[in-house]
Amino acid sequence: CGIVAYIGPRDAVPILAEGLARLEYRGYDSAGLAVVGRGGELKVRKSKGRVHECTGDLPARFKGSPGIGHTRWATHGEPSDANAHPHVAGTVAVVHNGIIENAEELRAKLAADGAELLSDTDSEVLAHLIARSGAAELEEAVRQALTAVVGTYGIAVVDAARPDRIVLARNGSPVVLGIADREMYAASDVAALVGHTSQVVHLDDGELAVLTAGGYRTFTLDARATAHRPAEIEADA
Ligand code: GLU
Repeated sequence: CGIVAYIGPRDAVPILAEGLARLEYRGYDSAGLAVVGRGGELKVRKSKGRVHECTGDLPARFKGSPGIGHTRWATHGEPSDANAHPHVAGTVAVVHNGIIENAEELRAKLAADGAELLSDTDSEVLAHLIARSGAAELEEAVRQALTAVVGTYGIAVVDAARPDRIVLARNGSPVVLGIADREMYAASDVAALVGHTSQVVHLDDGELAVLTAGGYRTFTLDARATAHRPAEIEADA
């Protein structure tokens, strides 16, 4: 239902928590976040309930960047801690808005292949497909995974083994990049970006983006580069 992401020199946790709180008005049943710690470890907290119940009592050492956060409006699988996003496979964490229509078929294939599915969601297949891709670059792993998927998505992906980037993709569920000075943001709604930056790039359907602290690149599902000139957030956004 809602996505927020941050990469840069600061701790992502308060930025994600605040961004998710700003998206609360859209309604949701669960919240969660994943950040990559200084030592390259993936830290995940997710739970059924309000954003502050999830982020309010994090230990002081729960810090890092990059990070991704999510508020969930359950479509597949009841609201529960296990079904809350992010979904993790190996070192990869994914948040997803939308509906993967061929999830049942993909779940069966993944399970037959030895994947351990931990939730009842359609979204979890994305984490496993990305983690199982042999691609060297995270953005290529995500692109390949998405070619197997039918449905709608706005996603944000981090990989603790490749902590210098966040990969995002959009198909029928909005994703907007927020461009700042040596740090980058992304969200499902500009409301989460206001105050951090006024420079935004709206992804098109069928488009992916890779964000590093220093910049961004966008491309299509068939790996063709795309160009966007950042737009200014409107004053009333
Ligand atoms: N279909 C996914 C789920 O049920 C994502 C729902 C959402 O957009 O929040 O977990």
